[in-house]
Amino acid sequence: MKKLLIAVAILIGVFFAGLLFQTYDYGKTCIYCLRDYHVVEEQFCGVTFYRKSKLRDEGYPRYEEVFGHPCEHVYKTGGFGRSIGGIWGGGIGCGMTAEGVLFRQRKAIIGLSYRLSETTRETAPLITTIELMDIWFPETLLKDFSGDTSLVSAGQNAAFSWENDLQDVQTVEEWNTVIKNAQAKAEEYYDAMKRPRP
Ligand SMILES: [Zn+2]
Repeated sequence: MKKLLIAVAILIGVFFAGLLFQTYDYGKTCIYCLRDYHVVEEQFCGVTFYRKSKLRDEGYPRYEEVFGHPCEHVYKTGGFGRSIGGIWGGGIGCGMTAEGVLFRQRKAIIGLSYRLSETTRETAPLITTIELMDIWFPETLLKDFSGDTSLVSAGQNAAFSWENDLQDVQTVEEWNTVIKNAQAKAEEYYDAMKRPRP
């Protein structure tokens, strides 16, 4: 009986020790050229002891062509998954990081704009797009978001239709119109909320 109790205690101990090991994986994407990595971290008690990054998408080399210098890469995290350590392999959950939520539209709009820039061979609207993204979805957005949220709200106000409308664009004229409409939407927001422009 005593032996059985010890065996059970050891099993329970091993089980709970196993729970302290977690695998955390997430995507990280450059918010300028959209270079994308998949990162896997092994953690014990929440502390990472192993990390592996795998390139998932090279992004758009067109960044260098358009801006005349290589992208300096500013990575933001996106979707993530978390599971209890190797031997148990139980899933705990998956979802989107706060950064992933805040930068989703920026990444989508820039991605569509690169593709348009390739098909139309036009770079000016792409440059304008990235400049506007740096106003409404700057790399410090997560920090800003915990303070004044007007920047995020103005950006989202503009980005919703911007992302949708870009999908139907065929010509440079249409592309410029979509950008103008997005700027007008953000202006509307500043007026309605009586906020200063950034
Ligand atoms: Zn980059």
